[in-house]
Amino acid sequence: METSKRLMEIYQRLYDFFGPRHWWPAKTPFEMMVGAVLTQAVAWRNVQTAIGNLEGAGLMDPYKIVRSSDAELEALVRPTRYYRMKSKKLRALAEFIVNNYQGDLQKMFHEEPARLRSKMLEVYGLGEETVDSILLYAGEIPVFVVDQYTKRIFSRLGMIPEKITYRKLQAFFMENLPADHRLYNEYHALIDALGNKVCHLTPRCPECPLGDFCRSFETEKSLRNRNEPKKQNPQKGNKPINTGTKKNNK
Ligand code: SF4
Repeated sequence: METSKRLMEIYQRLYDFFGPRHWWPAKTPFEMMVGAVLTQAVAWRNVQTAIGNLEGAGLMDPYKIVRSSDAELEALVRPTRYYRMKSKKLRALAEFIVNNYQGDLQKMFHEEPARLRSKMLEVYGLGEETVDSILLYAGEIPVFVVDQYTKRIFSRLGMIPEKITYRKLQAFFMENLPADHRLYNEYHALIDALGNKVCHLTPRCPECPLGDFCRSFETEKSLRNRNEPKKQNPQKGNKPINTGTKKNNK
């Protein structure tokens, strides 16, 4: 099957299985950006607590973050672990928006996407996945976000090599799918759902909606069988039960 058709079929299967994911869970584009910075290496509930703290203190605004003290910002984002580093990242992002776009996100997202992307990658603490998430979910710019789940799932499906760079993996999707930010939004969220709930390091293949065309399905099943403890013959101590052919069992 042609790659683009297969990608759309995978999308449809995941959508039918998980339903709409309603990403990104944020009330405003700036709150989405704050969440994208704070979510690194911590559970989402901790991020929600920190977002609530920032809102409660009236700091959900780039200018107000720039004017806040280090001690205040650190205390508010403390629930997200590595809070000193994260408050520095948050401040760097807020300064970027204030200094380049006078705090105006509409102006920021009207910049030519490739140029904006490379400028954002210069900001302290912003890596490719975070920048692309911001472009897609806050800016509604059709940039496909990829992550470790994407790499794991699509290499297990046999559609990409196991070792692939971020940019090559991203290009694989963007060259084979229409440039539609709503499709990219939902697709990335659905991949996250599969990676989070089913395609773990030890995958739960029998529960997977992609099982019938996954190259790794049988391999994982066999692995599980191999890992099961061998049955013992109660008559003869440790000797394994004869599991040979019918002829041998007569
Ligand atoms: S069938 Fe198994 S290995 Fe393949 S994508 Fe699904 S969970 Fe992952």
